[in-house]
Amino acid sequence: MPIYNAPTRDTRFVVNELIRLESYGNLPGFESATPDMTDAIIEEAGRFVSEVIAPLNLSGDKEGCTRHPDGSVTTPTGFKDAYRQYVEGGWGTLSAPEEFGGQGLPHVMGFIMEKYLATANQAFAMYPGLANGAISAIRAKGSPEQQTMYLPKMVSGEWLGTMNLTEPHCGTDLGMIRTRAEPQADGSYAITGTKIFISAGDHDLTENIIHLVLAKTPGAPESSKGISLFIVPKFIVNADGSLGEKNGVSVGSIEEKMGIHGNATCVMNYDGAKGWLVGEENKGLAAMFIMMNAARLGVGMQGLAQAEVAYQNGLAYAIDRRQGRALTGPADPQAKADPIIVHPDVRRMLMDAKTFIEGMRALCLWGALQVDLSHKAATAEEREMADDLISLLTPVIKGYGTDMGYKVATDMQQIWGGHGYIAENGMEQFVRDARIAMIYEGTNGVQAMDLAGRKLALNGGRAVQALFALIDAECAEATSDETVKLVAERLGKTAGEMKAATMWFMQNAMANPNNLGAGAYAYMTLTGIVSLGLMWLRMAKVAAAAIADGAEDKAFYEAKLACARHWATRYTTEAGALRRQVEAGCETIMALTPEQLAIA
Ligand SMILES: Cc1cc2nc3c(=O)[nH]c(=O)nc-3n(C[C@H](O)[C@H](O)[C@H](O)COP(=O)(O)OP(=O)(O)OC[C@H]3O[C@@H](n4cnc5c(N)ncnc54)[C@H](O)[C@@H]3O)c2cc1C
Repeated sequence: MPIYNAPTRDTRFVVNELIRLESYGNLPGFESATPDMTDAIIEEAGRFVSEVIAPLNLSGDKEGCTRHPDGSVTTPTGFKDAYRQYVEGGWGTLSAPEEFGGQGLPHVMGFIMEKYLATANQAFAMYPGLANGAISAIRAKGSPEQQTMYLPKMVSGEWLGTMNLTEPHCGTDLGMIRTRAEPQADGSYAITGTKIFISAGDHDLTENIIHLVLAKTPGAPESSKGISLFIVPKFIVNADGSLGEKNGVSVGSIEEKMGIHGNATCVMNYDGAKGWLVGEENKGLAAMFIMMNAARLGVGMQGLAQAEVAYQNGLAYAIDRRQGRALTGPADPQAKADPIIVHPDVRRMLMDAKTFIEGMRALCLWGALQVDLSHKAATAEEREMADDLISLLTPVIKGYGTDMGYKVATDMQQIWGGHGYIAENGMEQFVRDARIAMIYEGTNGVQAMDLAGRKLALNGGRAVQALFALIDAECAEATSDETVKLVAERLGKTAGEMKAATMWFMQNAMANPNNLGAGAYAYMTLTGIVSLGLMWLRMAKVAAAAIADGAEDKAFYEAKLACARHWATRYTTEAGALRRQVEAGCETIMALTPEQLAIA
């Protein structure tokens, strides 16, 4: 049975020492986020997911979800009771708005819980995770009546929600959707069409499910400009809030898939189902992006989550498993062999993983703070800056975060050798579960295009310039300690490669847009390395200061400095190669016809 330990010490480090949540105490919602309060939440959240959610990961994967002959869907054994405990504990309400029954804490706290859940059991975490995206969209674009009708019960967790975008013939290109919405005399719409791959499409966790569905009204433009968003509840909600008749939505089947078996990925049939427009007709894309941006950060954290749990099990195995001898001579001469952790190649995978995981945790929680600051910071400039940074880096957190999450999961499987390939040991589940995060919420190729094709150019490149300015300033002041100096120097150089790649796009993308498409992925990876580096520079500064102050937990801070050095010496070596890939343009990539691409 795989192990899972909530990384509460490292989380507290990020919250209290790195992003210093307490220092924003003057902002609404932050007043009560004192270290005493946030530490208690982190520890208790860690205990809850370790004891209640993690034990259902392997069994949920084996059992999967079931569609019964009457069309109802049940989740794996134990999920329903665990979800009841999740709701009773108020875990979904941490960062939800107080006006709808939430606790109104900073997003950072809600993200921590989401991440803990996904590390313990990604399939389970997706049930409340999808609802969070739906809540954000209704809150931003729903009418006051819709908000009153749906949000309190969604926030409390009494009802869950879904996102229905994908159809058999379109996933990325949602302009082609065929689901129709016919206006009705009572102001509602009749929704008809088929959606596929709908996560948490149906289940037995809640009595009602609020589906958010993209559809086209009659005469709408045949492009993404003609998409509208609708609320389609599984059971129609009466004016007094009680549940009425079953709506015309049903589950055609549950998809058989590679991983996240505990989550019901459904084919949804809408057969004249009653729906209510959210916002204006043909403005569904904007509402959809609210759902998707929240969801993309959540999916980026899934990459971190699978890396983290795989790492814990990889490390435990590396300490336990004995094969061969250390290159420098037996480490344990009394035994017949040394533990495999003595081998530099095993250490390489462990250090790469630890450096990614701790750097990514910092990046995700710093990103969550930017979400808060974009709404709540004291001045318009600060709000704009936070919004710019998180908009720029959302595709990077999603794309780079999940690419690396999958890589770490396979590296940790590798540490288990052949035993990693055997299902009952649980390592292959982490790999399977990590794989989907690179695909859904917009594939990572699409994230790369969002970054290079859209976010870079927005407002004349204001966001990327802000990121460069931040990095330049922080590198310039990092002279206090040798390790910090090294990290600052390498971060400066790596950001220099990114600046050069950015400039190359500016000069060559207009002439041929395929140059942008061909280099976007390398650019996203380069931005990921740089963003991780900014976090490692900041963490190195905090660690160096803590050691200088005689911190009790010296080993913890020394490990931070070692990882920062590992980032500086190993992660950055790719940067020049990635820049050169961008600069190679599209010539060879687009050189062959489809016929020539076939291998004769
Ligand atoms: C398990 C699972 C759960 C899911 N959950 C949900 C859900 O809850 N709700 C929902 O609506 N959907 C969901 N999806 C759908 C998911 O979001 C889509 O599969 C994904 O967005 C990709 O769409 P597609 O599969 O149609 O691939 P396509 O759009 O056909 O893409 C195929 C390939 O072409 C590339 N490509 C396409 N267009 C471009 C472009 N313009 N530029 C560069 N490359 C491009 C893609 O990167 C990809 O490599 C889920 C999918 C799975 C497998």
